[in-house]
Amino acid sequence: MSRYYCPFCSSSYQLYETRSDGVLICGQCGDPLTKKPVINLRKFFALLLSSAFVVPLVIMIVFVIKDITNKETFKNMENVVLMTFN
Ligand SMILES: [Zn+2]
Repeated sequence: MSRYYCPFCSSSYQLYETRSDGVLICGQCGDPLTKKPVINLRKFFALLLSSAFVVPLVIMIVFVIKDITNKETFKNMENVVLMTFN
């Protein structure tokens, strides 16, 4: 997967046209567009670093929800009473 862009024009004013031979050209300067990868090296490292902070949080939330929904700990209320009054 790749995206086309014009390296000479501003990124906010990109107009694309198709030439008669099927090549994508810039609508402003007329130069052929160049391919740009969707995920470059900088984006890859940014995703890696942000996942290092987000993934432990997601795992913690999953375990907290699993503990809340798990009712097995409240079945043995006698043990809880004995532990608290000793
Ligand atoms: Zn251009």
